[in-house]
Amino acid sequence: MRIVIKLGTSSLTYPTGRLNIRRTEKLCKVISDIASSGHETVLVSSGAIAMGMGKLSLKNKPADLVARQALAAIGQSELMAVYDRLFATYNYVVGQILLSGEDLKDESRRTHFCNTLEKVLDYGAIPVINENDTLAVDEIKVGDNDTLSALVATCVGADLLVILSDVNGLYDGDPRINKNAKIIKNVSSVSPEMLSKAGGSGTALGTGGMLTKLHAAAICENKCKMVIASSADPEILYDITEGKDGEYTKFFW
Ligand code: GLU
Repeated sequence: MRIVIKLGTSSLTYPTGRLNIRRTEKLCKVISDIASSGHETVLVSSGAIAMGMGKLSLKNKPADLVARQALAAIGQSELMAVYDRLFATYNYVVGQILLSGEDLKDESRRTHFCNTLEKVLDYGAIPVINENDTLAVDEIKVGDNDTLSALVATCVGADLLVILSDVNGLYDGDPRINKNAKIIKNVSSVSPEMLSKAGGSGTALGTGGMLTKLHAAAICENKCKMVIASSADPEILYDITEGKDGEYTKFFW
């Protein structure tokens, strides 16, 4: 199976912007194991801006674009250094691919991206994709990695997109307000009603929230399966790839 795994900023870093070492180490271990079991794994990873902030000990995410782009430049290299080191423990190498929205819209650039990605996989390496934040301005930005991961998954013919974040899945109510809200375990189609109910961004450092995740699902519908799950215990990826049901939301299975 070809699996795209999207890792959100909140999965990789603490609210301080510093790396969550325990979580990230475990994620890399489980993802390596899944790759070793024969699945083709592709990562879409956020975290560049947060890691740039962590590196410079900045407390708040700056509002202006140029500052964010500079932080992405500083943090992206750190992010890749971390992946390079951790995946090397399990004999995997990584390949960085930075994209903007334009790259996926334009047919010839999309073809180049797909060819490169196929080759990175052929070499047995794990592609790590992020938006090219240092150069992407609003007009050409995808803007959030939930959407980017769905565009990537459908573009490269993935069988499954797994979006890991700080939420367990899609609920039938807001779990922060309603203690009785339950996870919806299976979704067969993304309705306009679901989209209109979804709130905004969940954390101060990340970009995505439930709305961007449902947009991602709308992109995947009729093309590839998708799961929204919590990254709290990375071993959840074993159950997901084995098709088991759990405390997460499966779309289009
Ligand atoms: N590309 C951004 C970063 O690496 C994250 C975008 C998102 O959180 O969706 O910091």
